Amino acid sequence: MTMDRRSFLKNLLLAGGGALVSLAGGVLFKGCGPGEEGEPVAPFPAYEHLENEGRLARRVEEAYAILGACTLCPRRCGVNRRSGERGFCRTAERAVVYSHSPHFGEELPLVGSNGSGTIFFSNCNLRCVFCQNYPIAHEGWGREVSDAELAQMMLDLQARGCHNINLVTPTHVMPNILGAVRIALNNGLRLPLCYNTSGYEHLEAVKMLEGIVDIYLPDLKFMDGGEAERYNDAEAYDYPGKAQKALVEMHRQVGDLVCDGRGIARRGLMVRHLVMPNRVAGTREFVHWVAEHLSTDTYVNIMAQYRVEYRAFEYERIARAITPQEFIEAMEWAEEAGLTNLDERSLQQLQRFRQRT
Ligand code: SF4
Repeated sequence: MTMDRRSFLKNLLLAGGGALVSLAGGVLFKGCGPGEEGEPVAPFPAYEHLENEGRLARRVEEAYAILGACTLCPRRCGVNRRSGERGFCRTAERAVVYSHSPHFGEELPLVGSNGSGTIFFSNCNLRCVFCQNYPIAHEGWGREVSDAELAQMMLDLQARGCHNINLVTPTHVMPNILGAVRIALNNGLRLPLCYNTSGYEHLEAVKMLEGIVDIYLPDLKFMDGGEAERYNDAEAYDYPGKAQKALVEMHRQVGDLVCDGRGIARRGLMVRHLVMPNRVAGTREFVHWVAEHLSTDTYVNIMAQYRVEYRAFEYERIARAITPQEFIEAMEWAEEAGLTNLDERSLQQLQRFRQRT
């Protein structure tokens, strides 16, 4: 982070009062970590190093082999996707893509000046009842693509100046992504991969991404199995445990966020958490879990944009927006937990809510 941005945020927070002054004193905006002065980080992008070692092709084969009796994610459907069968994610052997384009609504270290290169995959292995992308995730809008077509999308995003390849809802198409990355790499791709997942991951699948993914961007949506089970299309009682294990592994692989001299993400873990009405998401447990099991320097985006989407209106406890007070208490819990690297936009949102109350 530049000093100008740091000063701006400090002034922003100091303009608050009470807990805000305390938040500012707690240095909640470390930004991008030690790489911000241009210090070298791990080989970059990670997948190029793996290819140079001759190991990327083998990884692609191993990933595709899982589709023969699919256990890619915790649903463990066991269907043969290679012969056209579909499990919970309704996806056979080929990936389905809704869109690919530069995106400017993501976290600032991903967006930079030219945008994050998002590829939205259709269908989902979790399917929340409040999904904000339900036409894509639940209804499967999009078209099937080959790995070569997917590789071309990555190269197109690079040609348009994007700072990373942001793979949105990638879990159920991980083998296709690896296949496409290898093709794209051999045609000039050099951008870091950002794995933008719901967090409902099988630990063994995440282990296969070591040395390929530079930036992990998982959600941690629920801390309680009962809430996770209640607000999904099909039971996902095991969501908190599976997601927590996955996040620990992601952090082990890439560590805390590191950026280049322009403040653009190079490598590391960025965690998202959506504050929900009536404390459904377990935000207090979330921030303490991050502090205890990852690091207090973890880049955390506590999000205020919950909306009553898709089937959320059918559930009384989540059939409204959050209140300013619900977001303020979430941010204060983050301070209580000792988190030091909160997303800039969430800090700005805190300031706006404080001015209203
Ligand atoms: S990726 Fe799809 S088919 Fe495979 S286990 Fe998960 S939901 Fe089932």
